[in-house]
Amino acid sequence: MLPYNTIHEAAAALGRNLTYAETIWFNYSARKSDYFLYCHNILFLFLLFSVVPVPLVVIEILRSLGFDKYKIQPKVRLSVSEMLTCYKDVMRMFFLVIGPLQLVSYPSIQMIGIRTGLPLPSGWEIALQLFVYFVVEDYTNYWIHRFLHNKWGYENIHKVHHEFTAPIGFAAPYAHWAEVLILGIPSFLGPAIVPGHMITFWLWIALRQIEAIDTHSGYDFPWSPTKYIPFYGGAEYHDYHHYVGGQSQSNFASVFTYCDFIYGTDKGYRYQKKILKKLKEETQNGESYNSSNQDLKSD
Ligand SMILES: [Zn+2]
Ligand SMILES: [Zn+2]
Repeated sequence: MLPYNTIHEAAAALGRNLTYAETIWFNYSARKSDYFLYCHNILFLFLLFSVVPVPLVVIEILRSLGFDKYKIQPKVRLSVSEMLTCYKDVMRMFFLVIGPLQLVSYPSIQMIGIRTGLPLPSGWEIALQLFVYFVVEDYTNYWIHRFLHNKWGYENIHKVHHEFTAPIGFAAPYAHWAEVLILGIPSFLGPAIVPGHMITFWLWIALRQIEAIDTHSGYDFPWSPTKYIPFYGGAEYHDYHHYVGGQSQSNFASVFTYCDFIYGTDKGYRYQKKILKKLKEETQNGESYNSSNQDLKSD
């Protein structure tokens, strides 16, 4: 809730007129409690989990219309009912764990100092804070994920997330309830270190989930804008982690590739990539050799 009754009061307190974005924020948030604004995340997460993976489901259904070549594990085909079951399981987790967690975690947001007032942060401030959040989350998530691959962690908790050896968008938040809670820590840590505005916090939660859905899409599209993000892992990178499964000691990072590189946990992946590239080149050379042989014969 903002401590001003009118826009004029807010402008007087700031010593300048409100920007367009600030006016919209004032009109929207002035009479709403900070707790209610924080709880918007429940609606955002519900929409993100439900809507963002839908185009990927459509692509999976229409795979034969030219999308097959982008599927990372083309031999795997999931039926619509299998994808719906995954979504239902995620929704059960959402209503039993994620939603209630949001409802009770507001005191921690208050404690770290997420603000809702004016002025709004600049675009640069938002971008830099989001960058810090992604780096902190990536680093912390790497070690927690690596820990979850020990015998006890995998058998009792992380195995659920690995039920999908070829992941789909809906499977991004598909995990044991304990993993959902544990992996909330890396997401919270960035904002705790560099607290920002509620709008930045909303953006962070949304972008992190969109990134996770992209990473679990099961498709490697060459035109994806994420290809331009330095050190971004992406779908192909994380797909390998799911493909190898419980034995996987490779590609633990959730967002970037540098942790796996520094700690040497990308060796299996790099080796497999090298072999596949070589095989592809040999196949292509073989094909061109065969076709030139055919040409010679027809001449
Ligand atoms: Zn794993
Ligand atoms: Zn995963």
